Amino acid sequence: MYRFPRVLHAALLGVLVVFVSAMLPASAHAQRSASVQRFVSVDAPTFAITNVTVIDGTGSAPARGVTVVVQDGKITAIGPDVSVPAGAERIDGSGKTLLPGLVGLHNHTFYTTSQRRIQLDFTAPLLYLASGVTTIRTTGSYAPYSELELKRAIENGERVGPRMFVTGPYVTGGEGYTYMTRLGEPEDARRVTRYWAEEGVDWFKAYTLISREELAAVIDEAHRHGVKVTGHLCSVSFREAVKLGIDNLEHGFFTNTDYAEGKVPDGCPSDFREQLVAMDMESEEVQETFRTMINAGVGMTSTLAVYEMYVPNRPPLEDRVLAAMSPETQKEYLRTRSDIAEQNSAVWPELYQRALAYEKAFVEAGGLLASGVDPTGYGGALPGYGDQRNFELLHEAGFTTPEVVQIMSLNGARILGIDDETGSVQVGKTADLVLVDGDLTARPASIRNVETVFRSGTGFDSRLLIEAVEGQVGVR
Ligand SMILES: [Zn+2]
Repeated sequence: MYRFPRVLHAALLGVLVVFVSAMLPASAHAQRSASVQRFVSVDAPTFAITNVTVIDGTGSAPARGVTVVVQDGKITAIGPDVSVPAGAERIDGSGKTLLPGLVGLHNHTFYTTSQRRIQLDFTAPLLYLASGVTTIRTTGSYAPYSELELKRAIENGERVGPRMFVTGPYVTGGEGYTYMTRLGEPEDARRVTRYWAEEGVDWFKAYTLISREELAAVIDEAHRHGVKVTGHLCSVSFREAVKLGIDNLEHGFFTNTDYAEGKVPDGCPSDFREQLVAMDMESEEVQETFRTMINAGVGMTSTLAVYEMYVPNRPPLEDRVLAAMSPETQKEYLRTRSDIAEQNSAVWPELYQRALAYEKAFVEAGGLLASGVDPTGYGGALPGYGDQRNFELLHEAGFTTPEVVQIMSLNGARILGIDDETGSVQVGKTADLVLVDGDLTARPASIRNVETVFRSGTGFDSRLLIEAVEGQVGVR
């Protein structure tokens, strides 16, 4: 093997050091790629947002006229009389609201129309961040390696996007969708769970046709690997899943078969939603589900925006949603939307109101409610934009603005086990923040006016992120 003479080696090293230094930008974030840097609007190591209204994510009342100081990515001071450190960049927060970065607990990187399913590796992370979502759990993946790669690239500063908790492939029963892992026996469940846990996924999602025995095996094997399990269930009811040790439950009312009359064990009844229309939230059976979940510390994920699509003419038709879609996607969406309007379901409007009431009653009973967009169905709830729609829908369910912020930030962080680090605007926490133009307490719809989204103290320009995705949702 040829070896450089020692002197030559040192000289080469010197040249190399000079060369590499010259390539580095002046910024402290030397490793950030140009494709990320183009969206950065606040890059100061110390900055202060002054005279802003803070809704901190803990459920506390809004605090007005506050200064928030961030140093090296952490919140170091909050209060009305806080002085701005010398040399800090000042951001005028007058007329604006500051929230914790949203934590989206059902935030796929894929998207569906009535015709297609497509991986949105490019547009989804940009739209999430642009909309104020700084952390996502993907909650069912059909391309887990894509998600693991995206997560790595975001963490390394090569790509722009939220902090990611990646979910393994869906696990379901043998008759389930072909893009899911269709389990034949409990040993399949263990083998698949072990494999993906070792590949680095953080969560699993069980789907509608899994059996109790298979779910028990997934949960046991996942927990052995320090990985958690949630479910969009049907064959296993909420109470049954909690008894098997599940960590979280998706979608609430719409997927709970605790109340389905004539349900056979491990069977998914086809018509149980029609029965739900008559449910009373004060009834013993509803309260028993809540108690079972609460006693076991199992939270529920609200996904109101995706279900709203099935209520004829209910979701607002937003220009910005259409603008983000590719022309073909837009056509598919509008066609299905008008089909739904024509079918004019008698069940969905009432079912939807019950679902809102179910979530309110769950929280009143002491339950831990988080939320996520679920950008599936026939494509009306886009990544990020649908999370913002959830913000309004949770108000409709009867929650106050501070409660809604808590559901969409700190509660999600709790379920993910990162609430010591993020999820609220408190001293010592990572500066994951959303600066919104307008007074959110007066007008929830102003959640759409996100100006700057801070991830670990770096500010991203929401408008630039949105411009970058225009016309491409449904394509990439
Ligand atoms: Zn989903």
